[in-house]
Amino acid sequence: MNLILFGPPAAGKGTQAKKLVGERGFIQLSTGDMLRAARSSGSELGKRVAAIMDSGSLVSDEVVISLIEEQLAKNPKVAGFIFDGFPRTIPQATALDESLARSGQKVDVVIRLKVDEQALIDRITRRFEAEGRADDNPEAFKKRLVAYNSQTAPLVEVYSGQGKLREIDGMADVETVSASIARILDATLAQKAK
Ligand code: AMP
Repeated sequence: MNLILFGPPAAGKGTQAKKLVGERGFIQLSTGDMLRAARSSGSELGKRVAAIMDSGSLVSDEVVISLIEEQLAKNPKVAGFIFDGFPRTIPQATALDESLARSGQKVDVVIRLKVDEQALIDRITRRFEAEGRADDNPEAFKKRLVAYNSQTAPLVEVYSGQGKLREIDGMADVETVSASIARILDATLAQKAK
C-alpha cells in the first residue's frame, strides 16, 4: 500500500502518519524529517540544505528524490509506505511513479487534508512559540505557504485526474481525521485485494 498524505505545511500530516505507523506497521517517509536529521547529524547534505529550509523554500527535487529512493530500496517488504511531505512538485511525483513502477508498485491513494490558511497560520504561530523551529517563524511560514500554493497544489489536479485523490476535513480533531483516513485506507485495501 502506497499512501500519500497531502496538504499544506502544518495540516497535521506528520501526526497522522505517526499514528498509522503505530496502528498498521506502515513506514513513514517524511522528507522534512529526513532533511532535519541530516542537519542535526552535521552532514554535508544537512549543511547544504539548512539555509534553504530556514527560508521556507523547497530544496531541489534531486535531493529529495534520492532520499526517497534510498528508503524505498532499503525496505522492500513493508506493509505500506506513507509519503509525508513528498511529492511536493510535479517532477517529484513523476520520479515517485517511476521508482515504484520499478518494483511493480504504484501510488494507491492520495489523501488530502483540507485546512484553511488562517487556521494554519494560528497553528504554526503556536508551534513556533512551543518548539522554536526556524522555518515556523511567520515570514518563513508565509513563504512555505506560497511554495505550497505555487509548486505543490498543482498535484491536486494530477492525482484527481488519476482518480486517486480523496479529500477530508483536516480541521477536525485528530481522532476524527484518523477515523476518516482509516475508512479510506480500508476501502483502498479492499479494492486492491479484488
Ligand atoms: P516539512 O517538515 O515537510 O514541512 O519540510 C520542511 C522543509 O524541508 C520544507 O520547507 C522544505 O524546505 C524541505 N522539504 C521537505 N520535503 C521537501 C520536498 N518534498 N521537496 C522540497 N523540499 C522539501
